[in-house]
Amino acid sequence: MKAALRILASGVLIGAAAPAVAQERVDLLAIHRIKTEAFRNSQVMDHLFFLTDVHGPRLAGSPAYRKAADWSVGTMKKWGVADPRLETWGEFGRGWTLERFAAHMVAPSYMPIAGSPLAWSAGTQGAVKAETIIATLFTDETRKDRYDLEKLAALIEAWMTTHRGKLGGRIVLIDPVRELPPPTTAASERYAPEALETIARAPEPVPLDPLEWPIVRLPKDERKEHQMYTPAPIEMTADFWLRQTRIFDRLNAFLRDEGVVAVLTADRRGDGGLVFAEEAGSWERGAPIPPPVVAIQPEQYARLHRLTDRKMPVTIELEVRARIDESDPEGFNVVAEIPGGRKRDEIVMLGAHLDSWHAGTGATDNAAGSAVVLEALRILKVLGLPMDRTVRLALWGSEEQGLFGSRRYVAKHFADPITMKTRPDHARLAGYFNIDNGSGKIRGVYLQGNDMVRPIFAAWLEPFHDLGAATLTIDWTGGTDHQSFDSVGLPGFQFIQDPLDYSSRTHHSNLDVYDHVQPGDLMQASAIMASFVYHAATRPDLLPRKPLPRPLPPKKETAAAGSR
Ligand SMILES: [Zn+2]
Repeated sequence: MKAALRILASGVLIGAAAPAVAQERVDLLAIHRIKTEAFRNSQVMDHLFFLTDVHGPRLAGSPAYRKAADWSVGTMKKWGVADPRLETWGEFGRGWTLERFAAHMVAPSYMPIAGSPLAWSAGTQGAVKAETIIATLFTDETRKDRYDLEKLAALIEAWMTTHRGKLGGRIVLIDPVRELPPPTTAASERYAPEALETIARAPEPVPLDPLEWPIVRLPKDERKEHQMYTPAPIEMTADFWLRQTRIFDRLNAFLRDEGVVAVLTADRRGDGGLVFAEEAGSWERGAPIPPPVVAIQPEQYARLHRLTDRKMPVTIELEVRARIDESDPEGFNVVAEIPGGRKRDEIVMLGAHLDSWHAGTGATDNAAGSAVVLEALRILKVLGLPMDRTVRLALWGSEEQGLFGSRRYVAKHFADPITMKTRPDHARLAGYFNIDNGSGKIRGVYLQGNDMVRPIFAAWLEPFHDLGAATLTIDWTGGTDHQSFDSVGLPGFQFIQDPLDYSSRTHHSNLDVYDHVQPGDLMQASAIMASFVYHAATRPDLLPRKPLPRPLPPKKETAAAGSR
């Protein structure tokens, strides 16, 4: 039933009469029904269970990713959503699946080793035994050189020259030992009111450096470092990461050719047995595959390092079975729709990335977001609220490797991010809402520099103030799929979320599992997501946009790019 009760939410009033902006209509009956469905009949933790315990982890290109995508399609079919499907976006690369891992220190005494092999590194030939050797690649001082590609290439070149002929048959300890001072802050937090006030404040203007192809280093001024992550066009940023990967390819080929048995690493973050694990090799077909690279608990790494450093021979027994599969290189997203009414050609999108890293089950990054957008779609479908525009859900693939799923989708459907040539649907997208900052509840929205949407979102958030969502910031945020939309001038947004233990513990770690997700937070987020989508699908106009970005200058090649 079409909601009868449409009221005026408080617009911003200046003086006695004239509204500063047109007042935004908020449908409180629809919000009431959305909240009731989201809080009384929630299925969001059920979605999470299937995406994590059953089908996690969901590394891009892996069979588990495909199973999670198939499960999502099958589940939405049961809801009667229109045409849930896998939509390919071109070639991703190779899959990598861990089938077995066991590691033990067997001399000078016994210690079982806990860790996680890094993605796209090789397995061992059964169980192998080898002695450790220290060969530190990055010190605390040179670690930042990873973001200066000329320095990085030189550093790796020098390291290879120093260690050529010395590492064969050994297990290499490649990281320095890190001290683990006692923790002084809580591992999990919610934003206090003062923190939200800080977020709401506009950032001080800083003159940014002009960015040109290729980006080979971060700006020297720390205040400008976010230039790499946010205002920089996403295609340039992605190009930077690709160039960095090519430089690491040279290191991987060296480790393989030298006959290194394995490499052990320890992240710069975490303690208490935490293991952070991303990739060592490249997902690109044909890239050199390094020997097994295993991230281990920092405390255990430190013990191995101290013993080796004191010249006490350390022997490790290691077995890694990892399957690299190049037979299914296609990348794909999951897409589904609720068709609109009288403006069915116009689209509102909601999305989250479905792929994950592999040390845990990818619960907070980003099964949580995927469960929220699925639940929001379920709520809208079950309630049958009439909506003028078509609502389209997307679960993106290969976000973790550089937003591939969403970038290619946007290029195919909306606009070429380099030439800025637009397609017809570019003019028909009302807005895109993304959720991918952990499992914390929604506290507000990053406006991505778009002042025109502030009064609209302020009105939409008002019925959720008592659930903790009231903050708007003009600031940008990056690192996830709304950037693909924002970078071609489409109104794409990411919500502000409570941090909980996302950056301290779960982000890309072995603790990124179901138990670190809070049901109440996901229920709140599902209701807000459903309400934002509903209002974007029913308001008279599309969301206001920033002017179109200019096309990027043509690409230039440099020596720093390296070649494999
Ligand atoms: Zn993520």
